Amino acid sequence: MSQWQQREQAKALLAKEVGYVRKPHAGRLRVALAFPNTYFVGMSNLGFQTVYRLFNAEDGIVCERTFLPPKSEVAALKASSASLVTLESQMLVRDFDILAFSVSFEWDYTNVLTMLRLAGIPARADQRTHHDPLVMIGGAVTFVNPEPLALFADVIAAGEGEALIPPLLAAFREASDRDDLLQRLVQERGYYVPSFYDVHYRESGSIERFEPKAGTGAPAVVRKAALKTTEAVDPPVTSIFTPDTEFGSRFLVEVVRGCANLCRFCWAGYNYLPVRAFPKERILQLAAAAKPYSARAGLVSIALCDHPDIEEILTRLTEMGYSISPASLRLDDLTPQILGLLRASGERTVTIAPEVGSDRLRRVVNKTITNEEILAATEMIFAAGMENLKLYYMIGIPTETDDDLVAIRDQILQMRDIMMAHAKGRGHVGRIVGSVNPLVPKPGTAYQWLPMEDDASIDRKIKRLRSLTADIENVYFNIKSERHSFYQALLSLGDRRVAPAIEAAEQNGGNWRAAVKEAGVDADFFVFRDRSEDPVLPWDIIDGGMKDSFFRAEMAKATREEWTLPPKRQKDNARLLTVLS
Ligand code: SF4
Repeated sequence: MSQWQQREQAKALLAKEVGYVRKPHAGRLRVALAFPNTYFVGMSNLGFQTVYRLFNAEDGIVCERTFLPPKSEVAALKASSASLVTLESQMLVRDFDILAFSVSFEWDYTNVLTMLRLAGIPARADQRTHHDPLVMIGGAVTFVNPEPLALFADVIAAGEGEALIPPLLAAFREASDRDDLLQRLVQERGYYVPSFYDVHYRESGSIERFEPKAGTGAPAVVRKAALKTTEAVDPPVTSIFTPDTEFGSRFLVEVVRGCANLCRFCWAGYNYLPVRAFPKERILQLAAAAKPYSARAGLVSIALCDHPDIEEILTRLTEMGYSISPASLRLDDLTPQILGLLRASGERTVTIAPEVGSDRLRRVVNKTITNEEILAATEMIFAAGMENLKLYYMIGIPTETDDDLVAIRDQILQMRDIMMAHAKGRGHVGRIVGSVNPLVPKPGTAYQWLPMEDDASIDRKIKRLRSLTADIENVYFNIKSERHSFYQALLSLGDRRVAPAIEAAEQNGGNWRAAVKEAGVDADFFVFRDRSEDPVLPWDIIDGGMKDSFFRAEMAKATREEWTLPPKRQKDNARLLTVLS
């Protein structure tokens, strides 16, 4: 594939877009913003779109996008001498000052390396020179555990873009050279330069300590950069519309950030605390401005109904003519009004996450809702005219027994009865789809010290659940294989010693089993080890704001099958506590 063909393709994509930014380069910090997956996937990612908008909101920065080419073109590009370009100006990525990756998923780690190769930039930070752009890696995964990517990044940006970008521009303006720039950045919250640390290991293989190198000025731990409040901040919204994305021309908006439920396995819940609602009027103004380009609004928030004005927001979006798609809805916040508004806007499916089938196990994971309430919510959902239900469950949770798997089946049967009762009047039966994933203990959660449950046991549970739920009419199950979760766990829980496996997987087309073997990485060590005696965990280099002592207390409560009720729900204490007996 020639450079010319690449440029023509970029121009064709731009021709279909509304809202992209073109700025002259002269005198500005030039940032190539990379999404390590295709244009189709990346343009549906609200985090990526938001960082693009935030970079370009600074007059001193020009930010242009670049994506992983489709699979069919990657081989052609590798075979040719052409080099990756940006979309807006079709300039070579390697000629920018900064190449900033926004990484949302562990599976995209290999794509980061592919894009570096296509851009003609060495994959490892220690092989780059001052002729190469500064390679910065940010995005959701990096402030959970950036270590598996540590050797590929010149700098890791940990935290929220709104808080990270202004200090970057200031440091760039003042810096005399690349080393000076890195030294300035590590003085700021959220900037982690992996090469500024020596990592010492114990004989057992666990990390002894991260030691900042003399003369670098690197802090002992890097504090995550986060917004204190969202009062004066625009909500993240789709700013570029294109028909060529996963969600089409959907207007995506983040309504509220964070979730106060404190589920013990949920990194998103802990990492985006405190809960911060974006200003209602700004959400509605931006929605009104986007209406000419979009008929559908996607509300992206893990706890949508925690917004104090959610009913008004839904009402006014519907009045504007939007049909509304919420992300997963938190069960304990559902109301007939909210469901009625969603139904009126055209929504037919609701997604909820009971997570487990029994009240006992829900106390272990701190999902503060009971089976009785889940069934009451199901009744409310179908009574509001919804036709389909999507459910999320996990298996492989500490203390889980066969009774808990049977409880999932029983709960589904009860939900199906409710769906059928409402379908009778309509003459049309919808479907219930359950997604089941093995628990991957995540960094920055109460489960961060836990080993993942072993393959054989997970495999047994998957088979048992399949047989329990086979042949239930209008109910479908989608169960992830344990191997898929195993390699995801390796990338979540690993440290910089996992890097050679990422390199090998990138070279062999994603065959992780072969990559781990070839790289000599002991994956079981990272995935199946109890880490509770480790002095330092790989992700401890970033201080996400939660205290270890809190997580340890939460683990102890999980063992005692006790809830920690979020403050907002403490008025419900008396009602919820009755199920503890
Ligand atoms: S309710 Fe959902 S988003 Fe909130 S902490 Fe629990 S799992 Fe996470």
